[in-house]
Formats: sequence, C-alpha cells, structure tokens
Amino acid sequence: MAGYAVTANDRAAAARDAADPGLSVVVPIYNEEDNVGPLHEALTHALQLYGRSYEIVFVDDGSSDSTRDALRELAAVDSNLRVVMFRRNYGQTAAMAAGFRAARGRTIVSMDGDLQNDPADIGRLVDKLDEGFDVVCGWRRQRQDRAFTRLLPSRIANFLISRVTGTRIHDTGCSLKAYRSWVVRSLHLYSDMHRFLAALGAGIGARITELPVRHHQRRAGMSKYGLGRVFRVLADLVGIKMLIQFAAHPIRWFTLLSIPLFLLAQLMFLLGFFKLRGSGAWEFLTDHDMAAVAAGAVAMLVAMNVFLLGFLAELQVKVSRFFRQRISTTAREAIR
Ligand code: UDP
Ligand code: MG
Repeated sequence: MAGYAVTANDRAAAARDAADPGLSVVVPIYNEEDNVGPLHEALTHALQLYGRSYEIVFVDDGSSDSTRDALRELAAVDSNLRVVMFRRNYGQTAAMAAGFRAARGRTIVSMDGDLQNDPADIGRLVDKLDEGFDVVCGWRRQRQDRAFTRLLPSRIANFLISRVTGTRIHDTGCSLKAYRSWVVRSLHLYSDMHRFLAALGAGIGARITELPVRHHQRRAGMSKYGLGRVFRVLADLVGIKMLIQFAAHPIRWFTLLSIPLFLLAQLMFLLGFFKLRGSGAWEFLTDHDMAAVAAGAVAMLVAMNVFLLGFLAELQVKVSRFFRQRISTTAREAIR
C-alpha cells in the first residue's frame, strides 16, 4: 500500500506536469492592436532560437480596439499560442494573475505586450534561474521612458520598495521576469501588486536575483498609466509591508501599536489623580482633573480595541486557507 494519500491537488499537479511545455511566457495585453503581431513574431523567433519547448499565453485585458481579432487570428495558426480573454478591463495585475493560472510551464516568464521588453532577453533570464534562483528580475539599465513623469517617480518608488520590503533589486517595476512556477502559483495578486512580485516572492522564501535587460521606446500605442500610479504604488506598499512582515502574526503588530496608547493612558491617569508638589512628592488630588482622567479612559479604550483587533486578526490568519496553502506550498518547495 502506498505510504501516502493522493489528493486532488497532487492529481492536478500530475495533470499539469503531463502537459508541461517547459516554458510559459505570459503577456498582459490591453489595446495593443499594432503591437500584437510584431510581438508574436519576435517572441516566436526568440523562443525557437532558444530551443526549449514553450507556450505563449496572451491575456487580453478587455481591449476595445482590434487587438482581440488579431489575437484570434494568431491563435488559429499557432498551436504554441494560448489566449485568455477578459470581458472587460480588469487591470494589468489581474491579467497577469490569469496568465499565471493558465500557464502550464515549470518556468514562467512575464513581460509587457508593447515590445518595450525584448523577447531576445528571455533565454538569459531563464538560464539564470538554472543557476539556482527562483526569480530573476529584469533590470532596465537604460530605460527609454520620459524623465520627469516616469523615471523620477520610478527611482523614488524603487528606493522605497527596496527599503520597505528589504528586497535589494534595482528595478522592481520591470515586467520582464522569470520565475519558477511555484512562486507565482503561491502568490495571491490583487490591486497593482504585479509591481511587487519580487518582494512578494522573497516573502515566501524565493531566491531572487536580477540581470540587466534591454528596454525600447514604445513604437505603437500609448502607455496605460499616468502619474496616478504613484499613489497606488504607495498604498500597495503599505499593504505589502503588512503582508510580508506581519501577516503570519498580526497580534504582534497590533500589540506593538497598543503599547504606546496604554502608556499614554497611565500618564493621563497619573496627571488626573495626582499632583507633583514642590518637595518632589506626588499628592493625591481629591478634586480630580476630570479632563485628564477622561483622556486617559479614552486612550485605554482605544488601546484595548487595538489589542482585540490584533487578536481577531490572529484568529483570522490562523484559520485562513490562504495562509495554510501558502505555508504548505513553500514548505514543499523547500524539501524538494
Ligand atoms: N496592460 C494591461 N491592462 C491595463 C494596462 C496595461 O494589460 O489595464 C498591459 C499593457 O498592454 C502592456 C503592459 O500591461 O502590455 C504594460 O502597460 P504599459 O506599457 O502601458 O505600462 P508602462 O510601460 O507605461 O509602464
Ligand atoms: Mg510599456
């Protein structure tokens, strides 16, 4: 008798391995009608040159131009191409997440669909994975974007992201990355989290490195982002910090927060009930300073609330499927 039980998960993994094309290239695409043809051609050329078996996964993020027709035509003639289509625009992160789910390769590469990333760099990234890394990030050393609206915010964002997340790579925003499939399968992506894949990967124990890659100017179509992304990145950064550092033990974080409030309450009670005499002795006040006492009571209540929130968060984490799954996937990889 087998010493282990075969679960639905194992069966799914076995089915996936059977259809494993080796390398999956995932590309989110939104209104890139003039780019999809040249992109498909450049990708096919680069991947055939590289020589491993591959699949291309294009995810159409609800394009409203002729991108979808172009994708259908390409899929009809290329059996290595698979296309996922959204009914409406859900955003780049959702598109990438859908691509990662659809991808069957053990190695996954993500890149932009506007030919700013160069398909000819894919081989080098994947080779680097084989040196024992789980994520290889592209680093656009000579970035071809506008200085003020793009490069400056990106510099600041990269600095903040590497500080906050502790992932020391230069270019977190570069979409061109190669991953071992378990990394992207273990991540739960939402909001604009595709910008933080490296940090999220590091959070689940992936070994991360970077390689300089080429970067070209956009030849056709328009960038989908303006300065608004700066704020989204900042908001996501806070969320990421919580996820990476405190998700496993929220109660520690909340307890830390409640301690200063608790101390403040004690101080207000002291000031409300006692008075410091010239001699250096504290004297009990019969007519309490009610304002200070009330402030102390409020601080105390808030401190207790914060602590209780932490307690609830801790319970929530301990019973959540997401957390257990993440741990089990990571642990499994570690013993492989
Ligand atoms: N994209 C997408 N959905 C969106 C916005 C963008 O799938 O809502 C795709 C877009 O088609 C491109 C990639 O994400 O393939 C990067 O977008 P873009 O080139 O506009 O970003 P930038 O290079 O300006 O940072
Ligand atoms: Mg672009």
